[in-house]
Parts: sequence; C-alpha cells; structure tokens
Amino acid sequence: MTELSQVSVTALKGVGEAMAEKLAKVGLENLQDVLFHLPLRYQDRTRVVPIGHLRPGQDAVIEGTVSCADVVMGRRRSLVVRIQDGTGGLSLRFYHFSNAQKEGLKRGTRIRCYGEARPGASGLEIYHPEYRAITGDEPPPVDETLTPVYPLTEGLTQQRLRQLCMQTLTLLGPSSLPDWLPTELARDYQLAPLADAIRYLHHPPADADVDELALGHHWAQHRLAFEELLTHQLSQQRLRESMRSLRAPAMPKATKLPAKYLANLGFTPTGAQQRVGNEIAYDLSQHEPMLRLIQGDVGAGKTVVAALAALQALEAGYQVALMAPTEILAEQHFITFKRWLEPLGIEVAWLAGKLKGKNRAAALEQIANGAPMVVGTHALFQEEVQFKNLALAIIDEQHRFGVQQRLALRQKGVGGRMCPHQLIMTATPIPRTLAMSAYADLDTSILDELPPGRTPVNTVLVTDTRRVEVIERVRGACAEGRQAYWVCTLIEESEELTCQAAETTYEDLTAALGELKVGLIHGRMKPVEKAAVMAEFKAGNLQLLVATTVIEVGVDVPNASLMIIENPERLGLAQLHQLRGRVGRGSAASHCVLLYHPPLSQIGRQRLGIMRETNDGFVIAEKDLELRGPGEMLGTRQTGLLQFKVADLMRDADLLPAVRDAAQALLERWPDHVSPLLDRWLRHGQQYGQV
Ligand code: ADP
Ligand code: MG
Repeated sequence: MTELSQVSVTALKGVGEAMAEKLAKVGLENLQDVLFHLPLRYQDRTRVVPIGHLRPGQDAVIEGTVSCADVVMGRRRSLVVRIQDGTGGLSLRFYHFSNAQKEGLKRGTRIRCYGEARPGASGLEIYHPEYRAITGDEPPPVDETLTPVYPLTEGLTQQRLRQLCMQTLTLLGPSSLPDWLPTELARDYQLAPLADAIRYLHHPPADADVDELALGHHWAQHRLAFEELLTHQLSQQRLRESMRSLRAPAMPKATKLPAKYLANLGFTPTGAQQRVGNEIAYDLSQHEPMLRLIQGDVGAGKTVVAALAALQALEAGYQVALMAPTEILAEQHFITFKRWLEPLGIEVAWLAGKLKGKNRAAALEQIANGAPMVVGTHALFQEEVQFKNLALAIIDEQHRFGVQQRLALRQKGVGGRMCPHQLIMTATPIPRTLAMSAYADLDTSILDELPPGRTPVNTVLVTDTRRVEVIERVRGACAEGRQAYWVCTLIEESEELTCQAAETTYEDLTAALGELKVGLIHGRMKPVEKAAVMAEFKAGNLQLLVATTVIEVGVDVPNASLMIIENPERLGLAQLHQLRGRVGRGSAASHCVLLYHPPLSQIGRQRLGIMRETNDGFVIAEKDLELRGPGEMLGTRQTGLLQFKVADLMRDADLLPAVRDAAQALLERWPDHVSPLLDRWLRHGQQYGQV
C-alpha cells in the first residue's frame, strides 16, 4: 500500500480543489497530515448527565422536559427555556432564535442538549446549546467514543473534519504509516505502536481517562510527543553539525567604536550586559561560527548587547544584518540603530517585504555594495538578497524564525563561502532544564539583570463580572494622558474566531468609551495595516488599542501604562508575561488587570496568582513548569516558542532525558530512520517565520 504521506487529501471522498485549499490552510496536504492533525480536546457525549450532578464549567449531554419557554427582555432579548429531569432544573438561553424554534420548545417537550453549564442569573444555564427533541419512547443512543474537537480554519467545520479523519483512519496500517521508532527503542521506553496512538487520539473510547488526556499525559500522547521531540532533537543536532563544519571570519575584539558608542549611550551597561557582551566578543574572535542565544527577560536590554556585537564586526570592516520577525519590530530596531550608529559614521540600511520597486532595488544594491549595518525582516533571507561580506547575523525573537531560514543564512556569508556568526535573542525565558533541549543547537547566555530604576508592573486579578468598572478605569487612565491596551486572548479552535472576538470587543469599547480614540489590531490584518495602527498608537493618536496577542513581541510604547487582559486563564504564563512586558516601559507606575472568567480551577488561581506575585520571567517559567493541572492551558505550546504539533516542552519535560538518549541511539544504530522522521514532522518547519 502507498504511504499516506504520498496521497493527497483530494483522494478522500468529497474533497475537491476548493476543500483541499481550505485544508492546506491548516497544514493538511496529504493523508499523513490528516492523521497528525490531532484534536485539541474532546467532548464527552457518551453519557447523559443528571442535571443535579452538573458542575459549573462542565460540558455535558443532558436530557429533560421543558417546563416553560419565555422571551425575556433583558439587556438583550433572549429566549429562556427551563428544563427539568427529576434531579434538578436548568435554563437554556438563546439570543438568536426563530419563531419556529420557540414553537418547537413548548412545555412538555422532551429534549436532549449538549453545551457548557455556566452559572447564570437563575442557577446553571447553557447558552445556545446544541439540542434536539426526543420523539419516540426510546431515547436516541449516545456516542460510543469521545467526540474530538479539531483546530479549524475558515469554511471548515468540526463535522467535516471529523468525517475526513474517519475516512483516513480506515486507510491506516503498518505499511501506509511506517513506524520509524525501532521496536527495541519502543520497548525500552515503553512506547506504544504509532498506529494505535493515532487511532486512540482521534477516537478515545467512552472509558478513556479524560483528565489524563486534558493534561496531555496519556500514553497515546506520550507516544507522539516522544517521536516529535526526538525528531526535533535530531534536526537540531544536524543543524549544529552542519553549521559547525563551516568557517566564519575571526574578528578581533573592537576598541574604538564601542568606546564612542558607550560614551553617547546615556547609561552604563549592567553587569549582565557586560558579561554576555564578553562571551559574544570571544565567540566572534574565533573561526568557528558562533551559534549563541541570549535569553533575557523583556526590558533586560538585549538590544545594547546586540549593538556591541555588531560594533565588533563593523570595526573589523564586515557587514552585520539584524532581523526581526515583524515589520513593527524591525522598524523599531532600524530607528534605534540609526540613532546609535549614524553618529559613529556608520550607514544603516533597511529592507522589508513592503519595500517594493525602485526603493527595493536601491536597497538591494546598497546591501550588495556593502552597506555595513542592515536591518529588516525575514525578507533579508530571500535568495535575491546578496551581501558583500556578511559576518554576523543577529536574529531577534528567534522562535518566529525557522530552521530553514537559519540554514539559508549559510550561503549569505562573506563571498558566499563563509558562514556568518549568529546571535539569536529571545525574551521567552525558559527553565534551564528545558533550554538544553529547546536549543540543542545553540550555546546560551542569560541576561539575568534588569537595568536599574524599573518599577514593576502592578498586577491585579478581577472577575469579568466587574468589566464595567474596568472600562471606567481605562477611561480614567486615558483622561490622565496615558494609553492602554485591551488584549483579547485566543480562542483555541481558530484564529478567525479570535479575531472576530477582538472586533466585537472593539465595537463594545468604542461604544462605551465614546470620547476616546480606539484602535484595533489583530492577526488577520495585513502587515501594512497592522504597522499603520501600531504607528498611530505609538504616536499617541490612539489612546486605547484593542489587540489580540499579535502585540506580544517587543513592541515599545512607553506611554502605555495600563493593560487589560481578557480571559488570561486561556494563556500560558510565559505568554502572559510577554504581554505584560508591553507596559511598565515608561516612568509612570503601570498596571495590568487580569480579567478572568470565573470559576477558576485551583491551579488556575495559583497560576494567575504567580503573575500577581512576580515580574521575573525566569521565576514565572519555573513555576509554570511546576504547576500543571487538568484543563489548564499548558506551557510553551501557545507561546510560539517552538511550534510543536503534539509535544509541549513544559508539559513533557520528564520525557526529555529519554528523548536525548534515544536520539543518540538512533543516530548511531538506525541512521536511515532519521530522514523519514524529519520529513514527517518538520516539513512545515519551513513556514515558520512567515508573518
Ligand atoms: P529587550 O531586552 O526587551 O529587547 P531593550 O533592549 O529594548 O530590551 O531595552 C529596553 C530599554 O532599556 C531600552 O529603552 C534601553 O535603551 C534601556 N536600557 C538598556 N540597557 C540599559 C541600561 N544598562 N541602563 C539603563 N537603561 C537601559
Ligand atoms: Mg527587544
């Protein structure tokens, strides 16, 4: 049988070109992709739960008889249907409903519904449940397996994806999906066969341990996470080897330029900046390409360290490229470097995707002719960009850049023969124990000291029932000339839903805060649109910025001193920390309001409590690793730190030692398994970094 990785999704019944295009948007091109497109979570429709046993926040199937159905004229008109099942009662609430619907829910009708039970005005309520009337004597059967909920994209429904997965699963067998983990290793590490794990995760049986699945600690998840982490380890080792086999220009420690630069800077580097600066200076003096990562909390002053590194290459007469993952960030760096370097007589060039036509041609020529300092986005990686003598590539916020892009750098070195030194900066602190695996290809330096004079951001937890007060607080801050962010967190199933939520919030806040100028920024806007909104906010023309987590990385608006984060319980702590780092950059005391949706689980409360207690990213990362509980958004997955499909470095930390051993064994004894694994898991790796 053909391998499923060779069969296009169009081989499935009902999948034509149009559907194939939609599937490609979520990374599904062949049938192997479909099998590895795993559910985010599960719904339990395998049993009917007595209403009296329902817990708030629980998703459940319930069955009962309608006792009344009324149209209620609250803030918004709604249809409220009361149902009873002998163990208790509950209300169903519909904001959108037709007359026919109302007629179908008359007193005495028996119905079965599915939805989330939430505490409401009249006890538990379910908003817009799925439901159907039960007609005959026999209640309809319940499902035999848990119902998977998949990540979606526009025009793709859960129903449709479930069907496609079902179809694909019937084709699953040992020759259609080869298991590249040697039996011996699988036995040593107690890992199940690949096909079993895949089948289980798409359709867990009714008795599956739902808590374990939610935690990500199920054997089937371990099997896949192990393979994915193993592959990641292998790819990093390969990357490191391939880089280390190359030569880079050895440059002596600079003296003149740094002295001038520091004299103009207006502050003294911290001890940590000096220490890390020295580590880099040594690396740059060697012939082996530097592969160094600087981990430093937001505001730790990574840019100064980058500038010092750049000066060493510049003084030696070489070119330096600085890349950032978005135009906003790149432009910010461009401005900073111009301010710092032009007084030293050093020209700074700019290249980004939006530069077109004549300007682009001019920039390309400038770079080819040896413009010493070049700042830009990943456009700098493109083939047509030719450097004259690039010796150092500085990459800010590395998690957005992929392995492929780093590889592309190899050809960009001096004369196309030498590999440039690479300095990578990330503001996502991760515990030391994980850094070794996350960055197996890099040496790391830690910038563990903040510049003096920072006031920590004051963080408070507020329930979303007090939203109106929070809105008043925004009004107050803006009236005093401050600016504020209002962050809408992601809705896991799709970016589209997240952006819609942000649009709704934007409309609500615009209405509530009529006197303020409010802006909106989200991931589905074009880069130029995003940049324009950001520029307006930076210039102070917008007072309130409603945003999705796209503002996370590195944006600097010192006058913004208030941040509201809605549903912070949906985010990983690392990401919350990143977001919060957008405020507290100016002289005013800053505040962060975590506007959560109750009830919080015990762990949820502890996690948000950490945000209140500390502003130290490393402490937060360590605690995040300690606190892992069912139903929580876990760890690194959402931070974009590393784009794993199944694995999560935080959650799967305990697998890492075994993964490292297995990688070694595979390289030594089964080297021909390496490439198939890389193909399976990293094909989409090429797309990282596309904004
Ligand atoms: P990040 O590490 O988040 O990239 P930046 O490099 O943007 O941090 O620095 C944050 C701010 O702190 C900048 O305004 C920078 O000029 C300032 N800064 C950096 N180092 C120092 C220092 N040693 N003393 C005072 N201010 C500093
Ligand atoms: Mg930065």
